[in-house]
Amino acid sequence: MKAYCDMCQRPVQPVRRTGPGFWILAILTGGIWLLTYPLKRKDTCPICKGKLR
Ligand SMILES: [Zn+2]
Repeated sequence: MKAYCDMCQRPVQPVRRTGPGFWILAILTGGIWLLTYPLKRKDTCPICKGKLR
């Protein structure tokens, strides 16, 4: 499902955002946090890493 990115002004394929906080939590929980990855919403533009509406 495509979403429109205002910043890029084009339709993009949304991706899941994995910021530094995600990886820090993954390390702190011994990888258990990685199990939450599929639960994350796909709301990030792959080009500008901006939040999609
Ligand atoms: Zn974008």
